[in-house]
Amino acid sequence: MTQPTDTLEAMNGTTRPRPLLDHSLAELDALFAGFGEPRYRARQAARWALKRGVTDFEAMSDIPAALRARLATEFTLSAPPVLATTAADDGATTKVLLDLGGGAAVEAVRMAYDPDEPLALGRVTVCVSTQVGCAMGCVFCATGQQGFTRNLSASEIVAQVLHFTRQGRVNNVVFMGMGEPLANTSATLAAIRWLVDADGLDMRARGITVSTVGLRAGIRRLADEGLQVGLTISLHAPDDALRRRLIPTAGGTTIDELVAAAREYIERRGRRVTFAYALLDGVNDSEEQARRLASRIRGIQAHVNLIPYNPTAGAGLRRPSPQRVRAFHEALLAEGINATVRMERGVDIAAACGQLRTDFATRADALTLA
Ligand code: SF4
Repeated sequence: MTQPTDTLEAMNGTTRPRPLLDHSLAELDALFAGFGEPRYRARQAARWALKRGVTDFEAMSDIPAALRARLATEFTLSAPPVLATTAADDGATTKVLLDLGGGAAVEAVRMAYDPDEPLALGRVTVCVSTQVGCAMGCVFCATGQQGFTRNLSASEIVAQVLHFTRQGRVNNVVFMGMGEPLANTSATLAAIRWLVDADGLDMRARGITVSTVGLRAGIRRLADEGLQVGLTISLHAPDDALRRRLIPTAGGTTIDELVAAAREYIERRGRRVTFAYALLDGVNDSEEQARRLASRIRGIQAHVNLIPYNPTAGAGLRRPSPQRVRAFHEALLAEGINATVRMERGVDIAAACGQLRTDFATRADALTLA
């Protein structure tokens, strides 16, 4: 556990405050105890930071002035500035590009609907990024082609959700933006804890989904959390050779191993797992490939989410025709596989794992500078 003295990092003989939300609640309890404060003060500060979204300790009006002043020297609270905003679907989808400083920026998206249950009205979903860039190198993904810059901290992930909760209620959070969440597992899990904690945003774990290319150690750690967080595993191919071409870093993990990991997650967490499958014209979208996919995943409580590819500049890949999408979908259904085609609204958010950043970069004409 972090000791109180760890709060301040030594830098050239000086110290600097750290983001409050980069500490866990247990760490804050210990830190506040070190300040001689009762335990509930840490939870009070957390509630102000999360439920009220304040970015100034002075605003924490039920915390004594002396402690507020101390908190301002020990911790930071900030809202990343918005570099750009764009909206689609008559405002149902809003994307923001948030400035993390040092030249780093990430996208977060608000959808005034639930992309997995489009008929469930009134649900607001936020899609967050977990890394600047990504090391996974998926050939169809613009972020993957740009490479990895750095991991986000827990506070930087939570800040994306807070950006939208300051504007209104958020029901679901999907970890499907830039980056591979389970390549940044510690920060991802720390952010999830702040989302679900009663003294945090107090969200339902079932409203949270982590999307991964299939990092098994991370899947296991997610299961260890004991929360009913949803899991989406990107397959994108019915055989390992093709999957390795599409997700070069997947080389060490086979589809059978991923299906086993999914089965274990379902058994431990009691949640259905979703397999994401980006449909690429002439690459992985034949009916025969649908039947092979069915044979690989049959028998487990999983759902296939088909995502007609959303072309990004320079990828050289195409979106299949609606007829090919329908044929693939029907072939899976005929094999008894539970499958849906991702709803088409605005940008294709789920497929947009990593595509969003480029969407901003290449559609400058659509941007409204904040
Ligand atoms: S699709 Fe997701 S995991 Fe793959 S390179 Fe892009 S951001 Fe990374």
